[in-house]
Parts: sequence; structure tokens; C-alpha cells
Amino acid sequence: MTLTIVFEILVVVAVLTAIAIPLFRPVDDEYILAQKLSLEEGDQYHQLLYKKENFLSTLKDLEFEYETGKLSKEDFDETKEDFELKAIQVIKEIEEMEKAAKEAVSKPKKKGKQDLFCTSCGKKVGSDAKFCPSCGKQV
Ligand SMILES: [Zn+2]
Repeated sequence: MTLTIVFEILVVVAVLTAIAIPLFRPVDDEYILAQKLSLEEGDQYHQLLYKKENFLSTLKDLEFEYETGKLSKEDFDETKEDFELKAIQVIKEIEEMEKAAKEAVSKPKKKGKQDLFCTSCGKKVGSDAKFCPSCGKQV
């Protein structure tokens, strides 16, 4: 009886973990990406993120002011368009930086070709060579 309950709890925990892991994964990746960007680009990336948040919250404020009648339709449309263009520009810059960082992360490091030396005569042998050019021994 007790064993059945323990087993059921284990199954529930396993299922919950399986559900939770994919939910948390992207956050980790974004965090790593942000870390990498902040290391390589100084504070530029975070400044862009900050700007984006600023523009988006200003747009929300504008909509609120328009809805509450503090802003005329003309003023609202004009200011909104202005901030939307700015926000789009910043979002584009952020996306470009993220894309560049992702490419840098996924690109495998090129392994430098190592020089081989002949085991028989000790002369340098090309890394692709099968036989020593000096003494002819197989390498
Ligand atoms: Zn040799």
C-alpha cells in the first residue's frame, strides 16, 4: 500500500519535471546569450533592450492617455507612429545582435592542423601524408 503511494508520487514528480524542463530551457539559453552579448558588446545590447522596454511602455502610456481623452487622435497617431518606428528600429538592432551571437555560438571552433613527425627519422611530415617524404616509412 505504502509502496504504491511512493510509486505514484515518483510518477507525478517525473511527469511534472518532464513538463517543466522545456519550459525553463529557453530562459536558460536567453540568459547565456545575453551573458555572451554583454561580454562581447559591452553594454550596447542591454542599452538596446532597455530602449525597447522604454519605447514599448511609452506606447502603452500613449494608448492609455488617448483612451482617457488626454490626447487628441491626431497627436496620438503622430506620436504613436514616431515611437513605433523607433521601437522597430531598436528591435531590429537587437535581433541582428542576437543572430550574430547565435551564429558565433553554433559555429564549431576550427581545429588547427597539427604537424606530425616521422617515428622513424623524426622529420616533419604533413598532417595528411601517409608516408614520410624523407625516409618513406608509413606514418
Ligand atoms: Zn621518416
